[in-house]
Amino acid sequence: MSAPGHAPQPTGRLGVYVHVPFCARRCPYCDFAVVVTRRIPDREYRDAVLAELARRATAFQDRTLQTLYFGGGTPAMWSPASLGAVIDAVAQRFGAPPIETTVEANPEDLTSAGLTQLRSVGVDRLSLGVQSFEAATLAVLGRAHTPQQARETVVAAADVGFRHLSVDLILAAPGDGPRRVDAELEALAQLGDTIDHVSAYDLTLEPRTSLAVRTERGLLPPVPDEVRAEASAALGDGLRSLGFERYEVSNWARPGGRARHNAAYWRGDEYLGLGIGAHSLRLDAAGPVREANGSRLRDYLADERTLARTAEHLAASTHLAELVMVGMRTTDGVDLQDVEARWSADARAAVARLAERWLRRGHAELRDHRVVPTTPGLDWADAFGADALAELTAPTSEAGSREAARSATYAPRSSPPALDAEGTTRDGAPQPKT
Ligand code: SF4
Repeated sequence: MSAPGHAPQPTGRLGVYVHVPFCARRCPYCDFAVVVTRRIPDREYRDAVLAELARRATAFQDRTLQTLYFGGGTPAMWSPASLGAVIDAVAQRFGAPPIETTVEANPEDLTSAGLTQLRSVGVDRLSLGVQSFEAATLAVLGRAHTPQQARETVVAAADVGFRHLSVDLILAAPGDGPRRVDAELEALAQLGDTIDHVSAYDLTLEPRTSLAVRTERGLLPPVPDEVRAEASAALGDGLRSLGFERYEVSNWARPGGRARHNAAYWRGDEYLGLGIGAHSLRLDAAGPVREANGSRLRDYLADERTLARTAEHLAASTHLAELVMVGMRTTDGVDLQDVEARWSADARAAVARLAERWLRRGHAELRDHRVVPTTPGLDWADAFGADALAELTAPTSEAGSREAARSATYAPRSSPPALDAEGTTRDGAPQPKT
């Protein structure tokens, strides 16, 4: 049965995402729409973001600000003064500072003095694009930093008071062998509890990127599926032994280290995305609206109002299916009480019916009023998502084809999800640091 279609209630919580699209160079696996430059239009971009915030924040004015996230690109290329100006303006607009302010950074971008400045303007969490602590892998990935720089940046960040540090790792790089994961785990063990969060993603060879072309020409070895699966399993075992908990398919945290900004997407909070390429989600009386900013920097800098934007009105049932899809990727699962409060009792019943087959197969369990994936069930996240889209959004008359779609897609994932070509889901949504 498809879920009922009336507009869901907002959660009342808001995340703000600011996209900073600049990079000093292009990594050989990257097909994001980045602006490659060594000198960024610092003040001009800040002014445009502040103008966009002032204009668009009114649509979210009665929401409670939760988190602020600067993603990219390379947000750490922006001056601390500009980051601070945006942090202050966001806090002022919503009447309180965010409870978590994250900046994505590459290890080579950060000095001790720069880290101190970031702390002083209100940044309290760093997401570091380490990708690997192994020199050979960093060379294949074309990264500009060394393993030593990555370690030193982590230590320096902890020294200046960052209590929340996340490290991104890219698995399944060309040439990866069985010892690759050992090297990553050894480095993480040496750094101790300075790191409280790890995101691990498999590399996807996006068409026409330098890495993809070289692999196609046989200049780099592809990574066999069994090596991917073994690496994923070994990394999971190792992270668990270091005290990390897998709380989302690709994300691991020590106690207290979960990313709060990402959680907002997973539980259906609204978000305001600022800057070129950023996405927003707004729940108004007519239903959910997903807005996407265009990517023409020149238009944005000239007058942010002239930037092309699109707005997609989602069916309430589509929004519910998406919430179930992302929720079942996390160990928090889907809160049935919340579904009833925000949609309806019928919607709750539809989700509960959908979950019954997951419960029967042992891939999910009921905890109080939540449907949560079991530990092995996290490997079935893609299948949960396919089920949710097929079951909650399709008309009831198509039950037969829905069943066929479900049978075709109900299979476990064998490795972490691939690195999204768009970086985060670029909804301003959570994504691997690049
Ligand atoms: S992978 Fe990240 S740092 Fe490298 S070019 Fe792409 S956005 Fe920039």
